[in-house]
Amino acid sequence: MKNIILTGDRPTGRLHLGHYVGSLKRRVELQNSGLYNDIYIEIADAQALTDNFDNLDKVRENVIEVALDYLACGIDPKKTTIFIQSGVPELTELTFYFMNLVTLSRLQRNPTIKDEIKLRNFEKSIPVGFLTYPVSQAADITLFDANTIPVGDDQLPMIEQTREIVRSFNNLYGETLVLPNAVLPESKYAQRLPGLDGKAKMSKSLGNCIYLSDEPEVIEKKIMSMFTDPNHLKVEDPGEVENNPVFIYLEAFATDEHFKKYLPEYQNLDELKAHYKRGGLGDVKIKRFLNNVIQEELEPIRARRKEYEKKIPEVYKILEDGTKKASLVGKNKIEEVKRAMRINYFEDKDLINKHTEKYN
Ligand code: ATP
Ligand code: MG
Repeated sequence: MKNIILTGDRPTGRLHLGHYVGSLKRRVELQNSGLYNDIYIEIADAQALTDNFDNLDKVRENVIEVALDYLACGIDPKKTTIFIQSGVPELTELTFYFMNLVTLSRLQRNPTIKDEIKLRNFEKSIPVGFLTYPVSQAADITLFDANTIPVGDDQLPMIEQTREIVRSFNNLYGETLVLPNAVLPESKYAQRLPGLDGKAKMSKSLGNCIYLSDEPEVIEKKIMSMFTDPNHLKVEDPGEVENNPVFIYLEAFATDEHFKKYLPEYQNLDELKAHYKRGGLGDVKIKRFLNNVIQEELEPIRARRKEYEKKIPEVYKILEDGTKKASLVGKNKIEEVKRAMRINYFEDKDLINKHTEKYN
C-alpha cells in the first residue's frame, strides 16, 4: 500500500502558532522523512467560501498568504503538491456522490460543526454548503487515496465522518476508497492550542492569534499582554498552570535547551511550574521567557517568508502547477469511482452489447 498524506487549511487568514504546532510542523517532518510516496496540501478555498460566500476578497487575498506561510515553514514544492481546492473540479463531483451516503442528522451531530455554527450565528439558518463541508472534506481526502492526515484535534470528527463514508462506499460499490487515519501531535498541548485570550482554540476567526509572519515587536507585545491566571495578582500569590495559556504554550514549545539558554535558574518546565504553583514567581518573568522561545522558533520562518515575498509570481506558479498535478490525479480517481458506481456508460462495451441484443 502507498503512504499518502493529505492536509489543508482554509485561506481565511495568515497561519498562526496553532496551525504550526497542530499540523504544519508535523507535515514538514513527514515530508522530510522520505517515508511517504505522495504528499498533498490543499488550500481549501471552496470550503472557506461556505462561511465566507459574502466576503470573496477575504478568501481571494488569503490564498497567497497561506501559500507563503507553507513555504516559510519548509514545505518544499518539489516534494509536496500544494494545490487550490476550486481548481480540482473532481472534488466537487465526488462530494456530490458522497452526499447520498450521509444523513442530515449525522451532519448535525458533528461536534466541531456544532461549535462552529454557534460561533458564526448560523443557528437559525445554516447554509447547506457549510453543514456539508465535512462531506467535501471526505472527498478531499479520498480523491487522493490519502491514508495519513496530520491535524489538530478539532478535525477528528471530520476524519471519523470520512471513515464512515469510505466504509459505506466500499460496502455498497466494492473496495475503491482508502480508509484514512488522523495523526495528532504527540503533545496534548499542541493538539488544540488555546488563544492568547485563554479561549479554547487559537483561531483565525477569533482573532486571538500569534501569526507566523508577525514581526518580533508584535509578538512581544502580544505575549506580554497575554491572559494568565486571573487570581495570580501579586508575585507572592500561588498560581495555576493548568488553564494558563502561557504555560500551555511553554508545554508546546519550550525545551530544556531553551531553559539553559534563557532561564538557567530552572532546569526544565516542571521546576518552573512548581515555583509558580508555590507562589513567588511573577507573570512578567515567564512571559519574557516565552517570548524568547517563540522568537527563536519563528525567526527563521519569518526570514524564509520574506525571501518568497520577493517572488510572488513564482509562488503563484507553484500553486498553478500543483493544482494541475492534483487535478490529473483526481481525474484518474474519479474514473475509478464512476466505474465502481456503474456510471461509466461509454467505456462499458458489455452494457452497449447487452442493450444492442435487447433490441435486436
Ligand atoms: P478558521 O477559523 O477559518 O476555521 P482555523 O484557525 O480553525 O481557521 P483551519 O484552516 O480551519 O484554521 O485549520 C487548519 C488546520 O490547523 C487543521 O488541521 C486544524 O486542526 C489545525 N489547527 C487550527 N487551529 C489550531 C489550534 N489552535 N491548535 C492546533 N491545531 C489547530
Ligand atoms: Mg477551522
